[in-house]
Amino acid sequence: MIVVSIRKVKYDKNNEWEKLIRTSSFSRLFKKEPTMPILIDGKKTSEEIKNEIAARVMEIKSEGGKIPHLAAVLVGNDGASQTYVGAKVKSCEQVGFASTLVRLDEDVSEEELLKKVEEINDNPDIDGLIVQLPLPGYISVEKVTSKIKPEKDVDGFTPANVGRMVLNWPSYVSATPNGIVELLKRYKIETSGKHCVVIGRSHIVGSPVSILMARNENPGNCTVTLAHSRTKNLPELAKTADILIVALGKPGFVTADMVKDGAVVIDVGIHRVEDPSKKSGFRLVGDVKFEEVAAKASAITPVPGGVGPMTIASLLYNTLLAAEKKIYK
Ligand code: NAD
Repeated sequence: MIVVSIRKVKYDKNNEWEKLIRTSSFSRLFKKEPTMPILIDGKKTSEEIKNEIAARVMEIKSEGGKIPHLAAVLVGNDGASQTYVGAKVKSCEQVGFASTLVRLDEDVSEEELLKKVEEINDNPDIDGLIVQLPLPGYISVEKVTSKIKPEKDVDGFTPANVGRMVLNWPSYVSATPNGIVELLKRYKIETSGKHCVVIGRSHIVGSPVSILMARNENPGNCTVTLAHSRTKNLPELAKTADILIVALGKPGFVTADMVKDGAVVIDVGIHRVEDPSKKSGFRLVGDVKFEEVAAKASAITPVPGGVGPMTIASLLYNTLLAAEKKIYK
């Protein structure tokens, strides 16, 4: 459990995080002594969650129970998808889960893929099943997602789980929105009665997180505004947010002038941008201009190391719930 208090802290010239904020272009421009925001550390929090899951797996083992088992289906050779699936499988090993990676050729037919999903649905040893998206254009994502048994849908993408999530019934909540809410919870961010602006209305991030933030529970109880590509006066609207969740997929879109002093900023975006100073030739950035926004925020997630790592931790957590039959009895 992390206990964090919001307070002004004395500047420590040896602290790298403080150095970054003090030297940010925003601070320099406004010659403003910055208030240190809380860095919402998704990497550290996800490691904590993984440790908690690993401890539960040890208990299950010692009780002679069944080890949770996640199956991932990957179609084709898309580099990013291979990386994501690889990370998920590796995390399974880290917490002591069993995992199965099913690789299908990129020209696999829709029928064959559906058959594979059915086969995994019927395999009593497998608790959770994910089909890595995107799929080739000729395959219907709707058909494939609908085919996954809701009991094994640890991504929380099937209509049954989305419907149950909206009704606040027991369900698998999809990994990224779940990870965001878990971060707010573990950092004890007050959400009740706050105005939460979510930018982006996708089915996997923006829409579900807007529903979670409006729930009558903690975290939740926000007054939520869901903004999207047709929203008028977005900068003015964003500036009214106490909690700003940004998931629109545009690098550095949110700038300091769009953020209220003291807002909590959650950056979901993740992009590779060229950076010749790096050995890899690129660096990762989010949808938020981190340095200048951090100088105004009371708490902020970095990219990388913010929401991203929480996504895998949430998936593992859902798999544990599936193995222990906590959602569907
Ligand atoms: P998406 O493309 O499906 O949806 C983007 C949304 O943003 C749309 O609803 C659109 O209406 C809105 N939008 C686009 N331009 C806008 C504008 N100018 N003003 C206001 N709204 C605008 O994206 P997504 O799948 O929700 O992903 C969003 C970002 O989050 C991407 O960068 C993606 O890579 C990242 N992402 C990260 C994780 C993670 O684990 N960290 C998980 C999922 C997505």
